[in-house]
Amino acid sequence: MSSIDTLVNTIIRPDVRAIAGYHVADASGFIKLDAMENPYHLPHHLREELGRRLTDVALNRYPTASYAGIKQRVRDTLGIPAGYDVMLGNGSDELISILCMACATQDRRAVVLAPTPSFVMYQRSAQFAGMDYVGVPLQADLTLDLPAMLAAIAEHKPALVFLSYPNNPTGNLFAEDDIVAIIRALDGFGLAVVDEAYEPFAQQTFMHRLPEFDNLVVMRTVSKLGLAGIRLGYMSAAPQLLAECDKVRPPYNINVLTQAAAEFAFDHVEVLNQQAAALRAARADLMAALAALPGVEVFPSAANFILIRVPNSDDAHLKLLSHKVLIKNVSKMHTVLTNCLRITVSTPEENSAFLDAFAASLAS
Ligand SMILES: *Cc1c(COP(=O)(O)O)cnc(C)c1O
Repeated sequence: MSSIDTLVNTIIRPDVRAIAGYHVADASGFIKLDAMENPYHLPHHLREELGRRLTDVALNRYPTASYAGIKQRVRDTLGIPAGYDVMLGNGSDELISILCMACATQDRRAVVLAPTPSFVMYQRSAQFAGMDYVGVPLQADLTLDLPAMLAAIAEHKPALVFLSYPNNPTGNLFAEDDIVAIIRALDGFGLAVVDEAYEPFAQQTFMHRLPEFDNLVVMRTVSKLGLAGIRLGYMSAAPQLLAECDKVRPPYNINVLTQAAAEFAFDHVEVLNQQAAALRAARADLMAALAALPGVEVFPSAANFILIRVPNSDDAHLKLLSHKVLIKNVSKMHTVLTNCLRITVSTPEENSAFLDAFAASLAS
């Protein structure tokens, strides 16, 4: 009889065995500023009403496979152009994975290309789908290196280019003209996927430009807006493209509770929009306070998080942990992020608790 280790080594792909799992820090007891969550709950009366709505959901039935009702709500509420449909995902993470699976031709190994550092799931999903991944480094000021992007596109002919707009983990918006140049350079062989996870905080979008480009996909999520727990992402693109991607989607990928909670949230989307506005105001305050601290460099942000550079990021990160504040140390992700930390913008109370702990950490 062989050991379980032998079994694992025989069956599981070597490239999967070689990687570490997606690490999520245990946050109990911490001020949690590491994951770009909206710190605000729905108001109490809305939560009671949501509870009543969920009571009526038929848990014994599969979801309605077309998702026609909720898709119509997304189209009406979230600025999808006329004539365009949406596809829903179990978070936009699932949509990234579906796009990769749909494009992963094996006769000629298909390529995913993205600026780097960017959202880690682009590379992971490409790998799991059996695609090659090409990362094109950002410039030192964290802007796109357009000539390098265009050269890499000409060389590798990627099927998919992911552009996080604004970019995670840097927080900046890439220049609109650069993105248009990339979409045009891909014409005929590749899709440009503009990932607008932080659209509520950037208020900049390519959604209305879908009719201009056959090869543009615009992806969003309700996660950063305040519903990270329900797992709902959506994307729009030319109907012919969506129809093909839809064949790869697991048929019941959005569960009935998510569907009911999302429809309820869309009925009250002004509450979420107000929370986003409060976070945009808090972002300005937090950036100003951080910039006033000696030795701290603050990068521009159009998202609900702020990237900073400090003299010693590992030291600052550890000291913040001892103050029970959890932020993300991104300094090892890429050389352009040396000594960088990423902080999620939260309530004024949590932001000032963080600032106190951070100032103490820098001073000690
Ligand atoms: C958070 C994030 C996502 C993932 O969103 P989910 O809908 O929660 O899966 C996608 N893209 C970027 C750039 C993100 O930062």
